[in-house]
Amino acid sequence: MRIAFIGLGNMGGGMAVNQAKAGREVIAFDLSAAALDRAKAAGCFPSASAAEAVASAEVVITMLPAGPHVRSVYAEQILPHAAPGALLIDCSTIDVESARAVAGQARKAGFRFADAPVSGGTAAADAGTLAFMVGCDEADFTPVEAALQPMARAVIRAGDHGAGQAAKICNNMVLGISMIGVCEAIALAEKLGLDPERFFEIASKSSGQCWSITSYYPWPGPVEAAPSNRGYSGGFATAMMLKDLKLAQQAAAAAGAATPMGAQAEGLYALFERLGHGGKDFSAILQLMRGRLGELGGEAS
Ligand code: NAD
Repeated sequence: MRIAFIGLGNMGGGMAVNQAKAGREVIAFDLSAAALDRAKAAGCFPSASAAEAVASAEVVITMLPAGPHVRSVYAEQILPHAAPGALLIDCSTIDVESARAVAGQARKAGFRFADAPVSGGTAAADAGTLAFMVGCDEADFTPVEAALQPMARAVIRAGDHGAGQAAKICNNMVLGISMIGVCEAIALAEKLGLDPERFFEIASKSSGQCWSITSYYPWPGPVEAAPSNRGYSGGFATAMMLKDLKLAQQAAAAAGAATPMGAQAEGLYALFERLGHGGKDFSAILQLMRGRLGELGGEAS
């Protein structure tokens, strides 16, 4: 299978490599030369442009920052240049409206399209254990699942176009809220003289248990792969979490849903970004709760 992979950042880099490891021919493109070099070193074939990458591919996978990037890359590079019959899959997290707009344009141009955002973070992207939430025509799901398989622990069809993005923003609203709750609890535990590592042992086996504790504990030590063990670098940037929380609030306003905890989480992450920490992993908000932003180093302005 020949795959064009566009967007080789924190997530897409590892995902493209897993496609190559599965024996697929991966033609890769990113605006960043460093990202392209990394993909080349790991067995992908670098391309000079997205248009060139997609020209001979059976499957096109995109992993880009946000809706405007996806809209412009599809309109200007992919739809005019992709091979007839190609299957187009966008794995970025974007607004439902953009996903449906791109799906409509793809259909008009004669292509099958799926929105397939992921859950799992960079460790899962590297390990090939992401969960994909797919919005596509029912008849297209089997080939979409086959295309995503080397990067996935689970591929679930959420519904028609846009439903994958709806599932993703609802999931990430839970994640943003739960991470802030965990950070508040750690800050309180510390004030009460309870060792945060001991709190991990207890909470990970008690009713407070959640992914933010067991797989992503924001206090260094208990979860080896968590960004808290590498100065909150890499992982899922605060700016990206804030993007998802904004998408959830926009969707909630448009749909008339009440999401007060999601609104609180958006406000707190907006503040944390405003304080200069948009590039840190989102679990670094622990230091805001502890009143110890100084521990995050010189990023703040
Ligand atoms: P990133 O910023 O590390 O990577 C995005 C890449 O896209 C960059 O390398 C950038 O150079 C490239 N790019 C931008 N415009 C381009 C263009 N026009 N042509 C080609 N390449 C272009 O971001 P990321 O963390 O990899 O996240 C990508 C997407 O995945 C986002 O939508 C994010 O919300 C979502 N996501 C991220 C995580 C995570 O833990 N990082 C988890 C789940 C979902």
